[in-house]
Amino acid sequence: MAEQISLEDFEAEALDFLEANAEPRVEEKRGWGEGSDRTGLFAEKTRAEELAELAEAKAWKAKVFDAGFGWITGPARYGGRELAAAHDRRWQVLENGYRVPSGAQFGIGLGMVAPTILAHATDDVKERYLRALYRGDLVACQLFSEPGAGSDLASLQTQAIRDGDEWLVTGQKVWTSGAQFSDIGEVICRTDLDAPKHKGLTGFVIDMHAPGVEVRPLRQMTGGASFNEVFFTEVRVPDDHRLGDVNQGWTVALTTLMNERASIGGGGGGGGMLGAQRLIDMVRHFGKDRDPLLRQGLADIYIHSEVARLNNLRVMESLKAGQLPPPVMSTAKLSLTMNMQRVAEFAATVLGPRVTADTGEWGTYSWTELICGVPGMRVAGGTDEVMRNIIGERVLGLPKEPPVAAR
Ligand SMILES: Cc1cc2nc3c(=O)[nH]c(=O)nc-3n(C[C@H](O)[C@H](O)[C@H](O)COP(=O)(O)OP(=O)(O)OC[C@H]3O[C@@H](n4cnc5c(N)ncnc54)[C@H](O)[C@@H]3O)c2cc1C
Repeated sequence: MAEQISLEDFEAEALDFLEANAEPRVEEKRGWGEGSDRTGLFAEKTRAEELAELAEAKAWKAKVFDAGFGWITGPARYGGRELAAAHDRRWQVLENGYRVPSGAQFGIGLGMVAPTILAHATDDVKERYLRALYRGDLVACQLFSEPGAGSDLASLQTQAIRDGDEWLVTGQKVWTSGAQFSDIGEVICRTDLDAPKHKGLTGFVIDMHAPGVEVRPLRQMTGGASFNEVFFTEVRVPDDHRLGDVNQGWTVALTTLMNERASIGGGGGGGGMLGAQRLIDMVRHFGKDRDPLLRQGLADIYIHSEVARLNNLRVMESLKAGQLPPPVMSTAKLSLTMNMQRVAEFAATVLGPRVTADTGEWGTYSWTELICGVPGMRVAGGTDEVMRNIIGERVLGLPKEPPVAAR
């Protein structure tokens, strides 16, 4: 029988654990010129720094899982506690009040791959990977995009050919975030060359350490290399690592994509007031706080981010644990990236030429990290344009976008 624990008792238990194992996060009020001026959305780290942070994050994740907070809504069979989404949200808020490793490395695995494994994998694969993913023992990546298949994912060409109880996977994926430290990946492959493109795909869980897997980092314009090209040459995947039925991979991919939009857009923040105080400090510092257009811009950012935050809370509130997020999560993803874009444009307007050359002045050129990072956020997880199409068709019920061939 599922555990019964009130939110209040759960909170007390969580706080006992956090107080015993972590330091409270003290928000220091810092003025202009004080502390770090970094604004980056993507990790700009050396491999050594990345691995050291991963080790810390894994140690914390294991501790959290062993104390019963690692998969609060998950099935008991795989180490979850089967509690309500409200308990999970309470944990997130409480944990956020303590200085703990960020856990960003687990975002794709837990936000997208694990829910897909839960929905579509064999019992053996669920047993083998779910607990390990939620405990942080394993990290997972999403192997969907290819050089010729992004928004039009169903055009992908990586092939899986059946060989007895195994499949041989050959092809190339690209933009694979975190592949450099992932242990497993969710890969979508073509398994029927003759079927219509959406009907000849199959999903698999693939071992990223298997012979024939090669991961090559890609450097992005922000300076870091947080994503990769991944080459597969006849990589052997056992048939029991298949996700769903043969040639039903499109359904599997949709499960992941819906969870992706929910996990990118569904945070409580709404994305707009990234460093709100810093923007206000910035206009004051440069003597522009009386500029009516900038004042309107700040108000605009505030209103849009507040609307996005409240909308996300409303959607999250209506979701039951384990339910598939609805297409309305596309609005959350789009709001987030539009708000980030507003912030980036605002900062660029105030700073002007200061963002074009690094003079060493605090809080100026450092905004290039955000300004150059936002376009990636507008593309990752489905581009702004694709989100608009989904909202038009599936949320508003507008006529379907004509296929490219029909235009
Ligand atoms: C930071 C980052 C991380 C990523 N991480 C991963 C990852 O971990 N795993 C993974 O598999 N992929 C990942 N991606 C890839 C991402 O999913 C793709 O970049 C995205 O789906 C877009 O595909 P594309 O780059 O091929 O662009 P295209 O699909 O070629 O799009 C090019 C342009 O055409 C527009 N367009 C395309 N189709 C339409 C349409 N029907 N209507 C209107 N406009 C359209 C797009 O909006 C875009 O402006 C990542 C991307 C980024 C930027």
